[in-house]
Parts: sequence; structure tokens; C-alpha cells
Amino acid sequence: MSKINAYATAAADAALGPLSIERRAPGPHDVQIEILYCGVCHSDIHQARNEWGNSIYPMVPGHEIVGRITAVGEHVKNFKVGELAGVGCIVDSCRTCSQCEAGEEQYCENGMTGTYNSLDKNGQPTYGGYSTQVVVDEKYTLHVSEKLDLKGVAPLLCAGITTYSPLRHWKVGPGQKVAIVGLGGLGHMGVKLAAAMGAEVTVISTSDNKEPDAKRLGATHFVNSKKEDKMNELKNHFDFILNTVSAPNSYDKLLPLLKTNGAMVLVGAPAEPSAVMGFNLILQRRTLAGSLIGGIRETQEMLDFCAEHNITSDVEMISIDKINEAYERVLKSDVKYRFVIDMASMK
Ligand code: NAP
Ligand code: ZN
Ligand code: ZN
Repeated sequence: MSKINAYATAAADAALGPLSIERRAPGPHDVQIEILYCGVCHSDIHQARNEWGNSIYPMVPGHEIVGRITAVGEHVKNFKVGELAGVGCIVDSCRTCSQCEAGEEQYCENGMTGTYNSLDKNGQPTYGGYSTQVVVDEKYTLHVSEKLDLKGVAPLLCAGITTYSPLRHWKVGPGQKVAIVGLGGLGHMGVKLAAAMGAEVTVISTSDNKEPDAKRLGATHFVNSKKEDKMNELKNHFDFILNTVSAPNSYDKLLPLLKTNGAMVLVGAPAEPSAVMGFNLILQRRTLAGSLIGGIRETQEMLDFCAEHNITSDVEMISIDKINEAYERVLKSDVKYRFVIDMASMK
């Protein structure tokens, strides 16, 4: 066991502050990583504030982790001390169910173990990346290229894979028209990835001031969802819509924008339910679906794709003592486009 520095919250209405936590000594299959950077995902805020109703306290959030390996267990085959490594949202799963065998550990039928706000196989709470060090089984550890700017790689571990996975599953590519709804952490990665896959990308946003960025990131069109006439012009237009919005929003305003057989996939996870008019699905045989992060194999595929296409997240660096302010700014959609914590500020 080693004692390390972390930042945690003690309750849904508490601010985050310093906490000393224990990490296990690396077991035979474990990799120990000194955390250099950790992204700040909107899911960290939902969970820190118990908006999904499943929070365990004290909670150390953070599942967009990159760092350097400081120790490996005796049976570790694929990682060496000194290499870069990443950890996303999953640190364990049952390893035997059909979903684990298919490499889709996020859908583990016995419940995956989240990087934080989860209980591990020994019933101990897991603590995330707002900390200086983490120990993870090599099966759930990712290889990170030395080629990319490491600060911008951190958000790929959640925002990157969460947008990459549905784009691949629904086979987005050249000749298709794709809308990304919400230009935040997930949304800006969705734009970069869909454009790199060859689709024509439109950003649907509530923030007019994001139009120049949307175009710079790879979108060819930008629409403010509050402008009804502009939304009406897009009826039956898109093959695929990726909805990344973190707050309740009208699915009925978006579904009519899909062509026949088009799909809108929800990755944004507001706590409250939304109504859906069946006719918006029945007419044009449209699909409304959801998607959860991505499995370990696909996360590695996404990291390799990003290294090949030179894709990273646009980040605003913060020191750990600015985390509470950063949460407030995320809630105001005021981040371009992901906060990343410099863990040197925790030492
Ligand atoms: P984020 O950076 O806060 O981005 C969310 C964006 O949604 C905002 O930038 C804003 O874009 C738009 N938005 C916010 N409030 C809105 C409202 N009331 N009406 C319309 N649009 C609104 O958050 P994120 O980190 O990208 O995460 C987005 C959501 O995905 C969160 O709910 C998070 O928990 C969830 N998530 C899900 C998964 C998964 O596996 N499915 C993984 C990670 C995160 P505009 O300014 O452009 O309108
Ligand atoms: Zn996340
Ligand atoms: Zn499983």
C-alpha cells in the first residue's frame, strides 16, 4: 500500500478538496502509473453531485488519465517501466461474460468496475485520476503514443472513445451527413473524429459564439438550435446525429432532422427523462439509441487512430486548486473544450 495525494468530495453539496488515499502495491498483473494529466469530464460533475443517484463518498473523480509507468508486476507482458500509459473509465470487469469476451467490457453483464465511484472485486471503493498515482491491471491499461501532445491525449480516454465508438458502430464515413449536438468536451471530439472519418459535419449548438471554433475543428455547417427556421431547413437531412448534451433537451426537435433509416445516438446523460413523440420515429423509420464509452480494444484502436491522424483534444490547463471553479465554468458551457488538470500541482 502507498499513501498518495488526491482531491475528493465528501458529499453531493460539498466542494472538492485534498484527501490522502491509499493505493495497492502493484500485484503480478498490475501497472503502476504516475499520473501527469487528468481531464475533467461532465460525468465527474454529475457523479460528484450525485445527479445520477449512485454516488459513493468520499469520491475521487477522474477517468481521463495519462501518465508514465513507474512499476509493473512480475507477470505484466505488454507494458514497461518508463513508457506512457492511459486509463479510461473501466478498471475491471467479470472477464467471462459474452460482452467481456467480445471486448465490450463497458457492457459487462455482471457490471464493469468504473475507475471511480465503483466497488472493486474486494468491495473496496475505486478512486479516480484527480490523484498522483494509480494502479491498474494491464488488461485495462492503454498504450499512449509519444508522438502526440500528452495534455491533449488525456480527454481521449473518455470524450474520445465515447464519440469514436458510436461513429464506428453506426459506420459513419464519406458521403454521410452527420450532426453533432452540443459543442463541449464530447462534442468537439465528435466533430474532429467524424470529420477525420470523412463525413460532412454540422454542429447544432446553443452558443452562437462557438461557430468559428466549430468550423476550425472540422465542421462545414453550424446551426443554432434556438433558431426554428434554420432547424426547419434541415428536416430529413442527416444520416446520423450524435447528441452530447448534458442537460435535458428536446429529442423531438432533433429526430425530424434525420433521413429515412437515420439514427440519433444519445451519449449525453442528463439525469431527467425526456419525452419522445413516437411519430418522429415511425415516420421515416428512424432509430433513437444510446452508447456507453467503449471497450478496451476499441479505446486502443481510437488512440492509434488519433495518433495516425494527429488528433488531440483542445484543452485548457488548470491546477488542482482551480477544480471547483472549473466545474462551474463547465456548467456554463464555458470551456474550450476540455479542462485538464496538471498533476504537478498536486505534489
Ligand atoms: P460539456 O463539456 O459540458 O458539454 C456539453 C455541451 O452540451 C455544452 O457545451 C453545450 O453545448 C450543451 N449544453 C449544455 N447545456 C445545455 C442545455 N441546457 N441545452 C442545450 N445544450 C446544452 O460535457 P461533456 O463532458 O461533453 O459531457 C456531455 C454529456 O455526456 C454529460 O452528460 C456526460 O455525463 C455525458 N457522458 C456520457 C458518456 C457515455 O458513455 N455515454 C461518457 C462521457 C460523458 P453548446 O454550447 O454547443 O450548446
Ligand atoms: Zn467521462
Ligand atoms: Zn463481463
